Amino acid sequence: MKIQAINGFKDILPDGIGRWRHIERKARDIFERFGMQEIRLPILEKTELFVRSIGEATDVVEKEMYTFADKGITMRPEATASIMRAFIEHGLHVQEPVQRLYTIGPMFRHERPQKGRLRQFHQLDAEIIGAVEPRIDAELIAMGQMLLDELGLSVSLELNSLGCPICRPPFKTRLIVFLEEQVDALCEDCRRRTHTNPLRVLDCKKTACRAVVQGAPSLLDVLCPDCDSHFAQVRAALEELRIPFAINRFMVRGLDYYTRTTFEFLTTDLGAQAAVGAGGRYDGLIEQLGGPPLSGIGFAMGLERLTLLLDRQQGSDTVPVRSMDVFVAPLGDDSLAPCSRLAHCLRSLGAKAAIEYGGRSLKAQLKQANRVNARFVLIVGEDEWTRGEAILRNMQTQEQQPFALTGSPEEQAQRLVDMLHGQAV
Ligand code: ATP
Ligand code: MG
Repeated sequence: MKIQAINGFKDILPDGIGRWRHIERKARDIFERFGMQEIRLPILEKTELFVRSIGEATDVVEKEMYTFADKGITMRPEATASIMRAFIEHGLHVQEPVQRLYTIGPMFRHERPQKGRLRQFHQLDAEIIGAVEPRIDAELIAMGQMLLDELGLSVSLELNSLGCPICRPPFKTRLIVFLEEQVDALCEDCRRRTHTNPLRVLDCKKTACRAVVQGAPSLLDVLCPDCDSHFAQVRAALEELRIPFAINRFMVRGLDYYTRTTFEFLTTDLGAQAAVGAGGRYDGLIEQLGGPPLSGIGFAMGLERLTLLLDRQQGSDTVPVRSMDVFVAPLGDDSLAPCSRLAHCLRSLGAKAAIEYGGRSLKAQLKQANRVNARFVLIVGEDEWTRGEAILRNMQTQEQQPFALTGSPEEQAQRLVDMLHGQAV
């Protein structure tokens, strides 16, 4: 019986890897322009870390975590909690009061797999810890937007404020009263959520619940003066940076730790998987996890959704395909050894070189050279080998010129590399 990958876990094949690397390279480049430093974290953490940060009554913790029940450890469903754990554990703020950290890697959630929704998926995650100024919120959001722009993706940005421990509790009470009045119209999940996590009802995707929510009160109307002013300044700062956004007064996030600014980058091109990235402020989280009373803000983008969107909006030709500089094609046994040294020397000089050892025909080797997108093929037939002069074929122009097999393979490789760099052979 053939063994196949687990449902919701996917191989990323060489054919598709170009766009992954393209996105990752862009992300690192842009994040570092904003002074971010990379941090790499373990996949497994104590279950308690996620229960205490993401929150017990969230979908992620209630239904989606891969937990080794007998060991008390969980495969991380997201990265923020782990970054905070590491930040506290290593006292990173002592070295530098404001930390800008990013990480890229796999996350695990037990959800129903579909396009753009997997059980192992990958996130780009960026966090700024230790700063509360509204301009920081705008800067972080602008960084996410810059990444999407430079990838050539068009998405919309939605913004909301979730208030703080001063203004949210009275709002929750008001919301519960409203939802209880509408209980008959709510789905079963939302009836339960009305008491366990009423804010989540605002985010339910079911048509009936959405209709109810249209009439619900919004936190934006009852923010405390501090949150209200913070939110106004975030909006102004985004306008300063010329970042277009829309306010979505019913946006809530699926994780309990968010406070104040929350945002999502959305697309209509991926069906139900509308969120390409999302994030927000989490001002009480670090303290709640036993760290200093520092605030933070971050976002995560889903790499699968970014790759799908890149395909959808940009087509596949924006991503560089594999190419080789030189394909060495020996056609007889005698030249095999020197050709293999020549290929090795080319590689050690930094050129991308391919070589065929199987004694295949010239036609077959040229076909292979085309498949790997070789710029040049060095044809070393038996006659050429005897004459000491190979043929160098430019695969783009089809032009051929002689290439003297004089000197050592190192010298020959150097001449080829000089030619690749635009100098005559
Ligand atoms: P959704 O509403 O689509 O379930 P979410 O609110 O659970 O998303 P976050 O926890 O905010 O998502 O994670 C940030 C990003 O990670 C999402 O915007 C999405 O791009 C990506 N993501 C989240 N869950 C998955 C998944 N199961 N498969 C693929 N990507 C995911
Ligand atoms: Mg989700």
